[in-house]
Amino acid sequence: MESKKFDTRPVTIQIKKIIKESDNVNTYVFEYSLGSKPGQFVMMWIPGVDEKPMSVAYDDGNEFWVTVCDVGPASNALFKMKEGDYIGIRGPFGTYYYIEEGDHLALVAGGYGAAPMYFAAIEALKKNCKIEFLIGARSKDFVLYVNKILGLHDVNLHISTNDGSMGFTGLVTDLLENVIKEIEEKGEKINKVFTCGPEVMMKFVGDVSWKSGIDCYVSVEKYMKCGIGVCGQCTVDPSGVLACKQGSVMKYNYVRTLSEFGKYHRDAQGKKIYFA
Ligand SMILES: Cc1cc2nc3c(=O)[nH]c(=O)nc-3n(C[C@H](O)[C@H](O)[C@H](O)COP(=O)(O)OP(=O)(O)OC[C@H]3O[C@@H](n4cnc5c(N)ncnc54)[C@H](O)[C@@H]3O)c2cc1C
Repeated sequence: MESKKFDTRPVTIQIKKIIKESDNVNTYVFEYSLGSKPGQFVMMWIPGVDEKPMSVAYDDGNEFWVTVCDVGPASNALFKMKEGDYIGIRGPFGTYYYIEEGDHLALVAGGYGAAPMYFAAIEALKKNCKIEFLIGARSKDFVLYVNKILGLHDVNLHISTNDGSMGFTGLVTDLLENVIKEIEEKGEKINKVFTCGPEVMMKFVGDVSWKSGIDCYVSVEKYMKCGIGVCGQCTVDPSGVLACKQGSVMKYNYVRTLSEFGKYHRDAQGKKIYFA
């Protein structure tokens, strides 16, 4: 097993295994001692193409995983790679989801966000937490990680799809409101919400949590180039905080004061792109 020597210089490691999660989502397994916590990311160098931040989906100290959606040039190139090919990584970087003994957590995921939430669930189980795992997707074809989550004991899985093809019909934020209420009816209380997924979804998850008086932590995923606070690409309006250093995991009490969160992000040139 290779082990970590530097965390700001790239190391070159082999893809040990590729797991197909869906038509355009793969999980890449690396035998490497990363030493990350849930919510942290690595900068992944795809030789000759680009270097991109990727959330850690699993890390047991011997191997780690990342789960990638095939959406553009860098991820397209990664999808052409094979087991045994080499990529570069730097990290782990960024803040993480803070888990305390006995927390009652709602983990709310959309898209590849199910992967870092799965890692959070594994670590939370070690701390005797109660876990409500919520996944929201357009339809059943976009629901990721179901079998992996069902393989974890003592995790309550709740699924919503916009078209009703799996689980609750509607938005994951409506499902979250229902779950919070159901838990309260049992005389218990969810004390933290962690969320990772499309930014607009996270904004509404944050708002539901805020309204319910529950601390919420979101992953602020802005365009990142260096991952270590040097290039300034991922500064967030209006405060100028660096999402790679002060995030990506930040408390929603703070994130809700950021004028751009849930409204727009910036491309590689810094141009504003408004969410549809
Ligand atoms: C902290 C952090 C963690 C990240 N973790 C992951 C991860 O675990 N897995 C992962 O697949 N990506 C992750 N990303 C996104 C990733 O870094 C790249 O942006 C993504 O792989 C697209 O790069 P690209 O060159 O293939 O396409 P680009 O040309 O950069 O993007 C193509 C288009 O797809 C959009 N897009 C980017 N990512 C997605 C997505 N996941 N789903 C739908 N549309 C998207 C872009 O806004 C753009 O319009 C993370 C980003 C950050 C900042």
